[in-house]
Amino acid sequence: MLQQFLDNTFTTLRGAVTHYSPGLHLREIGTVTYVGGGIARIKGLPSITSEELVQFPDGLLGVAINLEPDEVGVMLLGNSEALAAGVEVSATNRETDTPVGEGLLGRVIDATGRTLDYGKPLSFTERRPVERPAPAIIDRAPVTIPLETGIKVVDALIPIGRGQRELIVGDRQTGKTSVAIDTIINQRDKNMVCIYCAIGQRGTAVARVVDTLRHHNAMAHTIVVVAPGEDPPGLRYITPYAATTMAEYFMEQGMDTLIVYDDLTRHARAYRELSLLLRRPPGREAYPGDIFYIHSRLLERATHLRSNRGGGSLTALPIIETQAQDISAYIPTNLISITDGQIYLSPTLFHKGLLPAIDVGKSVSRVGGKTQLPAFRAVAGDLRLSYSQFEELEDFARFATRLDQDTRTTIEHGRRVREVLKQTEHHPLRPSAQITVLKALNAGLLDDLDLDQIASAETKIQQRMSKECPKLCERMETDHPLNRQEWQTILDVASQVIAGIK
Ligand code: ATP
Ligand code: MG
Repeated sequence: MLQQFLDNTFTTLRGAVTHYSPGLHLREIGTVTYVGGGIARIKGLPSITSEELVQFPDGLLGVAINLEPDEVGVMLLGNSEALAAGVEVSATNRETDTPVGEGLLGRVIDATGRTLDYGKPLSFTERRPVERPAPAIIDRAPVTIPLETGIKVVDALIPIGRGQRELIVGDRQTGKTSVAIDTIINQRDKNMVCIYCAIGQRGTAVARVVDTLRHHNAMAHTIVVVAPGEDPPGLRYITPYAATTMAEYFMEQGMDTLIVYDDLTRHARAYRELSLLLRRPPGREAYPGDIFYIHSRLLERATHLRSNRGGGSLTALPIIETQAQDISAYIPTNLISITDGQIYLSPTLFHKGLLPAIDVGKSVSRVGGKTQLPAFRAVAGDLRLSYSQFEELEDFARFATRLDQDTRTTIEHGRRVREVLKQTEHHPLRPSAQITVLKALNAGLLDDLDLDQIASAETKIQQRMSKECPKLCERMETDHPLNRQEWQTILDVASQVIAGIK
């Protein structure tokens, strides 16, 4: 009896399920109660989740970031001029996502995939969430391969490895963007995908960067992701996460990627703006309590994956602007503690014309040293020593009237070190060119030249080496240390060139 009843019920239920046709879509509708400053507050939408997209009229989207018992705070991802209180909105059951794929290379886009370069429509492979968990520790490999910037002072003294996070920090107009752009230019023909992520900058500044990259044939391997200063803070806030998702697409296929966040000071300000409007309690410098977390969550996604996960890497170069050289302000200290080192650009050096204005004493790279090529490491040690001795003596020597011969020699040698470490922007050098000239410098061969003869001597030595000893140049760029004979060849070539100049 009971069995028959159960069988009947089961058959009826199965019939109902098989013939069910979804005629009705249930959608939650809410009402806007406040709009302003790039955020909206909404009543209704009781089952919305954090980070879910909200659909406004005219295609405008927002992201739910503040869930309160009777109200939802939403950051808007577009222009809100047409929006007013009383408008109806609906939840979408979708996370914020961004396009990814090879079709993005060479393009200038925003985080939502809107093209900003007046080119053809964007072709992309798929859309992926902008917020993704960072790779697990077990999937990460140590940083072992160098990422060459082509800038002598960085590659020799503050070397960066693939998968590292190196902060570029300095006051305004000290050459921060130039260091990052030169690094992108130097990745031409290296099978590395680069992403330049501009946050809150003026349109003209971004246009200049894109022009520079085009001019140096560096756009083919680069994606430029932009959130201009006039964009709503919500868009400025999600842009670095979206750019990272784009890079991860390539990293997960085993490729090496580099991402520049220019700059995270403006990103932090966008988040502060949103948080204050959403009435979150302000903390130090009026930033909300989770400001450290939003940056660590972003930079944790930079890594070098193990070979069984494809072996790809994501190197991050976040940029931070300081005020009056105060690196102990809230956001710079946060970022310094999150990253694996910093390149500090000094306005004093910039005004003295010592470009790139990198202050070696205040810069450090905590993991990249292990990745340096053996030939490079051999010249870097002596260079660091003579440069720091010189910096110490130089200040002291200004007050001394009579100096002994040793001190004078150290200072004169140091002046030449400083001269060699100067480099004009957008002229990256390959490792062998750098090693050659640094070897000649360490051996004191340049000490007899005048300071203004150094630049031309340097170029001549590099040209002669690459012409006469191409095999040796290649060897310098491998994992093998050079033998005595090979070092001697470099010194012989350099001596001949210098003899010709004197
Ligand atoms: P901002 O704070 O405005 O973003 P920034 O710190 O990013 O500035 P850059 O825009 O990179 O600085 O550089 C400032 C100026 O210095 C630019 O005009 C640039 O051309 C020049 N400059 C930077 N580095 C060098 C260099 N190595 N050689 C010659 N000029 C340089
Ligand atoms: Mg800049």
